[in-house]
Amino acid sequence: MSVQLGMPVPPSGGATGSTESGVAVPPQRPTGTPAGLWDRYGRRATDMRLSLTDKCNLRCTYCMPAEGLEWLSKQAVMSKDEIIRIVRIGVNALGVRELRLTGGEPLVRADLVDIIAGIRNDHPDLPISMTTNGVGLDKKAAALKAAGLTRINVSLDSLHEETFAKLTRRPFLDRVLAGVDAAWAAGLGPVKLNAVLMRGINDAESPDLLAWALGRGYELRFIEQMPLDADHGWTRRNMITAAEIRDLLSRDFVLDKDPRERDGAPAERFEVRRRDTATGAATGPVLGTVGIIASVTEPFCSDCRRTRITAEGKIMSCLFSREEFDLLGLLRGGATDDQLASRWQDAMWVKPKAHGMDHTGLGAADFVQPDRSMSAIGG
Ligand code: SAM
Ligand code: SF4
Repeated sequence: MSVQLGMPVPPSGGATGSTESGVAVPPQRPTGTPAGLWDRYGRRATDMRLSLTDKCNLRCTYCMPAEGLEWLSKQAVMSKDEIIRIVRIGVNALGVRELRLTGGEPLVRADLVDIIAGIRNDHPDLPISMTTNGVGLDKKAAALKAAGLTRINVSLDSLHEETFAKLTRRPFLDRVLAGVDAAWAAGLGPVKLNAVLMRGINDAESPDLLAWALGRGYELRFIEQMPLDADHGWTRRNMITAAEIRDLLSRDFVLDKDPRERDGAPAERFEVRRRDTATGAATGPVLGTVGIIASVTEPFCSDCRRTRITAEGKIMSCLFSREEFDLLGLLRGGATDDQLASRWQDAMWVKPKAHGMDHTGLGAADFVQPDRSMSAIGG
């Protein structure tokens, strides 16, 4: 449940306060707002998603165009020390309690292990997870664990070479599978797997993917495809909804809501048991859980606890924000930790109430897709 602060709620929209050298600056939050990353609707962000790079070695159709994107220059991207400082401010001054490293593909950063070690050195108890496509993870899993990474999420949409290559536009399935196993062996568990289902491509495979994950003790989570592809090919009509995912899985499995509290988690979790083909009833023990992240059709904006920092140090309060506020520029201009924390709080104060993706059921008439694609934001 979100906390109600009893603060005046200004009209939404038009959040940008002013510009400094052409860069958007958020309006100042009202005086007296509490410490921490609160917004005007009473939500507090404690879960930080930090993008380490916009670069990637795959070209997933729902994320990147085949030809890739124009990468940021090295200078434009946060350095190791800048990342470590920003995390320190988030944790020590603003109450961040969980960190997820993402991208682009975090494994393509040569200083990844040093970044994690530096953050871990400052925050011995902070849960640090990472979302990765798994390419090259087999070689790095042990070092990541030793540096202080807590856990890993690997994206895996198909177990069939051809389908994998069609979806990611790269023939790297074997490398990803090796990475998943290496992460588990290195102690980076529980290993979570992320899958996006695309109609007519990998949707029919979903029960087999779940059976495979359960058999190995990995927690699979299906993510509804969101309109964050660089090609702007998403349509509400063509995406596979959470309801369809549950239907697809019910061919082989019975899903019962996990009784554990969801606690702000994006995934709704279900306990999974085999379906008896003769009777249709559940049979045997609980095999594990599956998560469904229904950002489009069953959004969880009212309980959102996320704050995002892009690879070039911009604060995004929501994946679908059309406004982003520069933290890195301020940092490089010599700002103090207090000034940086205050800018971050201002940026979060104007977080939109909801993303508004699912209005019409067909086209989401007043929803405007952000300019950035998922890889450039940090999913
Ligand atoms: N490259 C890493 C990876 O793929 O895991 C990390 C970054 S990626 C942007 C993070 C997650 O976003 C992945 O699990 C990916 O499947 C998901 N993703 C990318 N584009 C998406 C979209 N349009 N809709 C839903 N999920 C998406
Ligand atoms: Fe790369 Fe991840 Fe986007 Fe796929 S989803 S193109 S692996 S950033």
